[in-house]
Amino acid sequence: MKAKKLDSKGNIIVGTTAILIVALLLISIFVITTMTLIKDSNIDSEANDNFKYIIDDYSDNLEVLGRDAIAEATQKVYNGLPIRDSEDQISKNLDKLLDDENNEFKQKYDIDLSSEVMSVEPSDSPWKVLFKVKLNGKKDNNEFNQIIERNASIEGLRDPLPIAKLTIASGVMAYDDKIHYKTALSAYMLVHNFDSPESYIEATAPMTMKKCPYDPYVHHGDPGVLRDCLDTGYFHESADGSCYLCRLEGKGKCPHYGMEVFIQTHTPLGNESLSCSDHVVFADHYNGEKIDPNDWDSLILDSSHRKKYGLVGNESY
Ligand SMILES: [Zn+2]
Ligand SMILES: [Zn+2]
Repeated sequence: MKAKKLDSKGNIIVGTTAILIVALLLISIFVITTMTLIKDSNIDSEANDNFKYIIDDYSDNLEVLGRDAIAEATQKVYNGLPIRDSEDQISKNLDKLLDDENNEFKQKYDIDLSSEVMSVEPSDSPWKVLFKVKLNGKKDNNEFNQIIERNASIEGLRDPLPIAKLTIASGVMAYDDKIHYKTALSAYMLVHNFDSPESYIEATAPMTMKKCPYDPYVHHGDPGVLRDCLDTGYFHESADGSCYLCRLEGKGKCPHYGMEVFIQTHTPLGNESLSCSDHVVFADHYNGEKIDPNDWDSLILDSSHRKKYGLVGNESY
């Protein structure tokens, strides 16, 4: 009995010591790991701090250069050249612009930068295009790799869709901040057998992308609003309209959230013809009627667009 008691005491001592040793070991491992992590993150944040102002400067410029790269693609369309893959075209344009940028940063900050455009894609807003660029930097013994994301605005750029869709050879012209369809649209409608193509002779549309401020759009039925919208030449958000990137490829419709603009007819004719939203004229192809049959400049609209813009009666504007 006595020996057994001693035995059990001994067991308790050995057991407790073992637990203490294991605990000490665990604590040591934890402390060492934590210290290493803290050290690493210090180095990281130190490196990021060193490069932060360079990366910020670069990201700000990406907003501008991204837009320049889109504008170059738009110019190509206006020069009469087709764009089959706008993302690829804009990526190439931007890669070139960023090469120059990298050289400028070399002189400005004495840093070696290399960059690669990873994607150009529609964003949540039809007025912005999302750019992703992989940026690598090296200065002295420090290095960083980072993916930069920025949105570039397409407001103020020209609408490429009419030219991309109909081609320069159709006779469509752009001047005085307007698209002048001349006979291009009526010829296109004639070829496709749409009703009353003569209604669209000499039709016009806004050229520069401007976001309509009369939001929600039912306010277009309020006095003076539609007149101001047409005079200024605003574009409108539309799930059915095509986005800027697809407009460059001449698509009147696309799966992305896009925009629509009214193609304004100037005709004494009161026949049914294509509803004048550009995605209807270029892709969806359904008819509408003049809002005011006696007005030469009246919009030709279908009932769902009338509802969207609050133009339900026979308003004249
Ligand atoms: Zn408007
Ligand atoms: Zn699209």
